[in-house]
Amino acid sequence: MSEKKLALVTGGSRGIGRAICVRLARMDCDIVFNYRSGSEAAEETKKLCEEKGARVLAVQADIASSAECDELIRQAAEFGGGRIDILVNNAGITKDGLLGRMKDEDLDAVLEVNLKGTFYMMRGVSKLMLRQKAGKIVNMSSVVGIMGNAGQVNYAASKAAVIGMTKSLARELATRKITVNAVAPGMIGTDMTGALSDAAKEKILEGIPFHAIGEPEDVANAVAFLAGEESGYITGQVICVDGGMAI
Ligand code: NAP
Repeated sequence: MSEKKLALVTGGSRGIGRAICVRLARMDCDIVFNYRSGSEAAEETKKLCEEKGARVLAVQADIASSAECDELIRQAAEFGGGRIDILVNNAGITKDGLLGRMKDEDLDAVLEVNLKGTFYMMRGVSKLMLRQKAGKIVNMSSVVGIMGNAGQVNYAASKAAVIGMTKSLARELATRKITVNAVAPGMIGTDMTGALSDAAKEKILEGIPFHAIGEPEDVANAVAFLAGEESGYITGQVICVDGGMAI
């Protein structure tokens, strides 16, 4: 059995999730990650992590499903010889639109993945971490959950909920020294933001003191800190990785 720590990352096939998987592999973790449908991208993440020396398991699972989350956690624990040391709840989606035109389905879809998916994963993995008396949970919020954003009422609600869940679970798990923190990225260059028009991007850049878009690796570095040993006395916190956007 491997002596390395086992990290479980949701939505690891692309974007920020892939950068997190590779960063944690560099930190000497074995990696289990899931994806919803992009199996080719998942293969690429697997390869990149293996190049860093990690054992890797890629699992197709929809985190909007409680049953699929439980099965993902079961497979991850089996791969880790009964342990999950690090959980990163990264998977997330947007369904943007002005509120007056936003459909019920757009609200439901975003809450199902961003809020409920994070809830299901934290519920399942925290039980294991309590038995282990150790563990690190890092949740992906967004500056939008702190500042709000026109056209993203549903997404802002889901990412503010992630912060509330993070702080609540941090209090629940504190006696066992299990830490629960969140990272709130600003504007990061991934497929999620790639669809924006140049005009929309320029408008967003005006609101970023750095006047620059961040890289997935910038977010992965903050996650690695919160998932590592050096952040052992930090819990219930939200670190913005945003070039100053939310100051
Ligand atoms: P992305 O490029 O769109 O990648 C999303 C990842 O999540 C993919 O691996 C995707 O898998 C997976 N995923 C989506 N829905 C899923 C589901 N129901 N079940 C399982 N996996 C699912 O997104 P990103 O930009 O890297 O964002 C990652 C996280 O950071 C999200 O929580 C996002 O809200 C947050 N964030 C991003 C930014 C930004 O500027 N990019 C800013 C703030 C916060 P498939 O490809 O298989 O669908």
